[in-house]
Amino acid sequence: MAEWLCSGLQSRLRRFDSGFSLHILKIMKKKEFQDLKGNVHKGAILSSKNDASVIACEYCEFNHVIPIPDASFLEDYYQNEYLGKRASDDFFQKMESEFKWNEIFHNEKYDVVEDILDHRARTVLDIGSGLGCFLNVGKKRGWDCIGIEPSKDSAKYARKNFKLNISEIFLSSETADQISKHDFIHSQEVIEHLSDPFEMLNIIHALLKPKGIVCISCPNDFNPLQKIANNLVENKDWWVAPPEHLNYFSIDSLSNLLSKCGFEVFHKTSTFPLELFILMGDNYIGNDNIGSIIHKKRMILEENLLNHNQENLRRELYQSLSSLNLGREIAVFARKK
Ligand SMILES: [Zn+2]
Repeated sequence: MAEWLCSGLQSRLRRFDSGFSLHILKIMKKKEFQDLKGNVHKGAILSSKNDASVIACEYCEFNHVIPIPDASFLEDYYQNEYLGKRASDDFFQKMESEFKWNEIFHNEKYDVVEDILDHRARTVLDIGSGLGCFLNVGKKRGWDCIGIEPSKDSAKYARKNFKLNISEIFLSSETADQISKHDFIHSQEVIEHLSDPFEMLNIIHALLKPKGIVCISCPNDFNPLQKIANNLVENKDWWVAPPEHLNYFSIDSLSNLLSKCGFEVFHKTSTFPLELFILMGDNYIGNDNIGSIIHKKRMILEENLLNHNQENLRRELYQSLSSLNLGREIAVFARKK
């Protein structure tokens, strides 16, 4: 790894009519890292934490951590931190209490996909299917559903409670051979954890039927409201969390990545911009009580809009937010070319 100063941004002399004036341009530190395939990831450092730096990678064209941990390190890490440990009953109860609210967004995704797919095309694969809430909504709408979920407890829950077909595997080019082709592939809060998002999208491309649809959701990081809120909180860059979060997408960089991997983006949306609460004086960073209160407030807003027949208004509002790169989590829909 090398650290260097960008030559194009070194200080320069500029002549004015009134005489000579020295203008020191902003000196931006860059870092680089060569991965196992020999690709060089280089870019301006946006943040540093836990012996890692987030760079605006010029090669990948999205923000990610360097050094990039390899896949086997991550598999061991998740096995020890999460998958090897039993989830508490509290965890399942909390998740269950939010299924109904989650269904608002799951139904929106199926509506978007069903609008453009042939009505006979109804097989969906959910990568990182968790407790199975997204697939259960699909099942109720008549889809044939398959999930991939490496957590034994979550996979067991989905089988027992929703009678879903779940494989307990990590998706890779080897394990992908066991999976059939689908009309729709969904993946929420997975891509930010991966050492190689290109590989994941290439596998998804191969697992889709011709003209199949992919929907990728992930946090919307380094977004404009987050940057303002960063001035108001003590825990700077709170969203930077390696080695769990390795990639930090915006709506534009995620759309660009999908285009580079053989997809045509046709729909983008986002979720409520939670950072607004910090700007309104409710600093929830590191405060679980305030975090819980503001989370409930956004749920109440979204449920009120649904219950008063304004779900379409909410959808249009959140799509508009995504066009401004706002919203806490983004979702990009794209069609296999
Ligand atoms: Zn890169």
